[in-house]
Formats: sequence, structure tokens, C-alpha cells
Amino acid sequence: MIDFSLTPELAALEARTESFIRDVVIPCERDPREGAHGLDDSLKRELMAKAKDAGLLSPHVGEEWGGLGLDTRSMAVVFEAAGYSLLGPHALNCAAPDEGNMHLLEVVANDDQKEQWLRPLAAGEIRSCFSMTEPDGAGSDPTMLATTARQDGNHWVISGRKWFITGYGGAKLNIVMARTSDRIERGHGATMFLVDNDDPAIEAIRRQETLESSFAGGHYEIRFNDLRVRADQVLGEIGEGYRYAQVRLAPARLTHCMRWLGAAKRAHDIACGYAVRREAFGKPLAEHEGVGFMLADNALDMHLARLVIWQAAWVLDEGGEARQESSMAKVFCSEAEFRVIDRCMQILGGIGITTDTLVERLWREIRPFRIYDGPNEVHRWAIAKRIAKAARSRG
Ligand SMILES: Cc1cc2nc3c(=O)[nH]c(=O)nc-3n(C[C@H](O)[C@H](O)[C@H](O)COP(=O)(O)OP(=O)(O)OC[C@H]3O[C@@H](n4cnc5c(N)ncnc54)[C@H](O)[C@@H]3O)c2cc1C
Repeated sequence: MIDFSLTPELAALEARTESFIRDVVIPCERDPREGAHGLDDSLKRELMAKAKDAGLLSPHVGEEWGGLGLDTRSMAVVFEAAGYSLLGPHALNCAAPDEGNMHLLEVVANDDQKEQWLRPLAAGEIRSCFSMTEPDGAGSDPTMLATTARQDGNHWVISGRKWFITGYGGAKLNIVMARTSDRIERGHGATMFLVDNDDPAIEAIRRQETLESSFAGGHYEIRFNDLRVRADQVLGEIGEGYRYAQVRLAPARLTHCMRWLGAAKRAHDIACGYAVRREAFGKPLAEHEGVGFMLADNALDMHLARLVIWQAAWVLDEGGEARQESSMAKVFCSEAEFRVIDRCMQILGGIGITTDTLVERLWREIRPFRIYDGPNEVHRWAIAKRIAKAARSRG
């Protein structure tokens, strides 16, 4: 039986998150410590301390590691509420890339690695980054991985260049994906390493200037100059990096959908307020069919996005990998949530492209979502391949 109702506990947690965002987080949105490369760590720490007092810190992490231990469906409710402010996920310590990294560590890391990295991450004491994409290697096609890790006695030596490493500025932990085999076949041949960014063999080449500005620590191009790591810094098994990337990426793309749904709702609320207040041609904008239909299309896109997220979350909670579902959710939500914000900008007229409302910023912030966590074209291609495979097997 399909049941969309929230348990009383989850409904209470949702209400608590909403009021925390409204009363504590939104008043900090004009804090000057938020700039072109994300919010400053001092602001993030202040917000996290308040979230901790409100019992809302790290909702996605198991209770034994200091989180609330929510399942994916419950996360969908809380992350959407947190996403209503761009600062919300930072306050709750459930922003990318830390949130996905914590999930990966919880599933794959051994107990010592969890104590070393997951516990301080869940407490918000440190930040992390995830190094996969490369200027001349891994991108849409992760099997083009060019960064290598070669074995040298009890150590591994990592060499290569990465870019778009979100959060690198100020992150302590770096989860590095490197090629450990000459051949990459059927998802084998790459390994993940847990690396301390304080190591001098990691060089920051440049901080990248980007359209968006909502990730703490910005985005960096970095180089590993023969970085030596110990065998106990390998995450999981040698050669299984691609498998672990799936462990990280399917839920991580879904949590982006959740947070951006909250942002779309925020833009919609701003546009609704304007459409019922502002008049043109003798009546409020909302009473003009052209505007009313845009509001209706917003409601349709947000409702469908929520259903797609909840269904994929259910598959994950049932133990499935949700590859097809999370790909569909990523494509649909990144486009539908962008459409919502874009319509809101239109409804607001001239003011929509100014910084007088948050809509202009949300429009810039959500655009890259169609590119990261796999470009939408690649997801459509993967969805199509699965459709064709199923059709072939039916004969
Ligand atoms: C804001 C942001 C944050 C990011 N954070 C991180 C991070 O923390 N760590 C990290 O490792 N990476 C990160 N990335 C990188 C991101 O994962 C890559 O940008 C993405 O995987 C695409 O790779 P690429 O940029 O090399 O594009 P390319 O591989 O050069 O592809 C360019 C375009 O080609 C098209 N294309 C590619 N393949 C196909 C196909 N099969 N069919 C049709 N069209 C296709 C798509 O339109 C795609 O956008 C981030 C990117 C952004 C924008």
C-alpha cells in the first residue's frame, strides 16, 4: 500500500526545521561573511551551533556518529525544509559535498577511519571535499581517470591534476579518486584514498571563478605532486573506487534535488507574494491568466519533483541502488526546479533580476545543477540504455 503521510515525529521535525530556518537562518542571509566563494567558516560554525541547540545537526548521519539517523524519505522532508534558505543546509551540516562524503564514509570506511573522519565531520568540526573531475581526464566519462596512484612498498604515490573540487578551500579531508590499474574495466581499476589536505604535496593551483557562490570553500583546481599515502588511507578495497562512487553519487544527487526543491519553493513564495500585491491593467497580476498559469506550472513542477524524490528515496530505503530512479530524479528535478525559479523571475518583472529579492541569486545558484553529479545528457543516455536493454530482453 502506498502511504504518503508523515509520521507525527517526522511532521514535528519538519515543523521544527521550518521554524528554525525562518527564525534563525533567514535573518543571517545578508551576513557579509557570505561571499563569491561561499560562506565563511565562522558563519557556518555559528549556524551549526544553533542547529545543534535546536537538535537539527547532521540529520543524515547515524546516531552513533552524532547525527539524527534519518532514513532517505525522512531526509527528503527535512532537506527540502532546510533548502528554503541557501544557508539552511550549511546550518544543518547537510550541504554538499560534506553530506555525500559522510554517507560514503558511513557505508564504506572502517571503524578507525570513521573515528578519524566521520565523527568530526558529523560534529561540524571539519569540512571535506571529493576529488574526481580532471581537466584532461575524468569528467562526464569517469573511466577517463588520469590521476594515478602507484604502489611503493607500504605506501601509494598519487600524481595528477583535478578541478572543480568543491569546498577544497578550508577542507581538512580530501577523498581522492585515482587509477590503480593500467586497465579500467567494468567499473574496476580505480581506488579512493582518504587524504589530509594539510599535506604539502597537495598544491592549490587556483580558485575557480564561477556563476554560483553557495558552496562553502569555493571550487579549486589542485595538483597532487607525488603525494605519499599509507595503505591504511585506502577507503574500502583497492580497485573498487567506481563502485563506491555509485554508493556516494546516487543518494548525493537525490539530496541535491531535495535541497533545490526547498529553494524553488522559496522563489515561488516570493513570486506569489508579488503576484497578489502588484496590479497591472486594473487587477492583481495573479488574476491575469498568463501569470496564474505560471504559478500553476510552478505548483505542478514542485509537486512532481517531490513525488519523484520520495519514490527514489523509498527505493534506496528498501536497499535498492536506485540508479535509474536517481538518474530520472536528477534530470527531472534539476530542470523542473530551474523552470520554477525562472518563471518566478519573469513574474517579478524588472525587480526579478535585481538583488532586491533572492530570486536572482537562486536563478544563478541552481543553473549548474544540470551539469554536476553527471550532466543531464549523460543521465538521459544512461536511462535510454536501460530502456533499450529491457526492450531487448523482452525480445
Ligand atoms: C558547481 C560544480 C561543482 C562541482 N563539484 C565537483 C566536486 O566537488 N568534485 C568533482 O570531482 N567534480 C565536481 N564538479 C565537476 C562535475 O562533476 C563535472 O563538471 C561533470 O561531471 C561534467 O564533466 P566536465 O565538466 O568535464 O564536462 P565534459 O565531460 O567536458 O562534458 C561537457 C558536456 O558534454 C555533454 N556530454 C558529455 N557526455 C555526453 C553524452 N554521452 N551524451 C550527450 N552529451 C554529453 C554534456 O552536455 C556535458 O555538459 C563540479 C562541477 C560544478 C559545475
